[in-house]
Amino acid sequence: MDDCLFCKMVSGEITPDSVYEDDQVLAFRDINPQAPLHVLVIPKVHIATLNDLDDDQGPLLGHMMHTAIKIATGEGYAERGYRTVINCNAEAGQSVFHIHLHLLAGRPMHWPPG
Ligand code: AMP
Ligand code: ZN
Repeated sequence: MDDCLFCKMVSGEITPDSVYEDDQVLAFRDINPQAPLHVLVIPKVHIATLNDLDDDQGPLLGHMMHTAIKIATGEGYAERGYRTVINCNAEAGQSVFHIHLHLLAGRPMHWPPG
């Protein structure tokens, strides 16, 4: 999608601080980190919100989650703990309308989130 920030990262028009990439997903460090580890995992295909996820895209979402698990494990947070979040639409705090899985770790997290 032409005017999508994260599609521009997938196409190479914008270069993110990447930590992982394969044929389905790209993972990069958040520009405004909310924890010592704050990585966004995105699908390479444009999906605006979780509401736009097709029934047959469950495996893609699973792959995004497994990617986050691998990154958290590689950075040493598997046992200590980490959080994964997908914000859907404005009230939940979504500001970039290309779905992304937040991976946060490295500080105590509170519940419920704000
Ligand atoms: P959300 O509010 O859930 O839509 O999350 C969007 C995230 O994208 C925020 O945490 C932003 O800090 C992050 N973000 C925005 N622009 C960039 C960028 N150019 N590179 C990396 N992360 C970004
Ligand atoms: Zn996009």
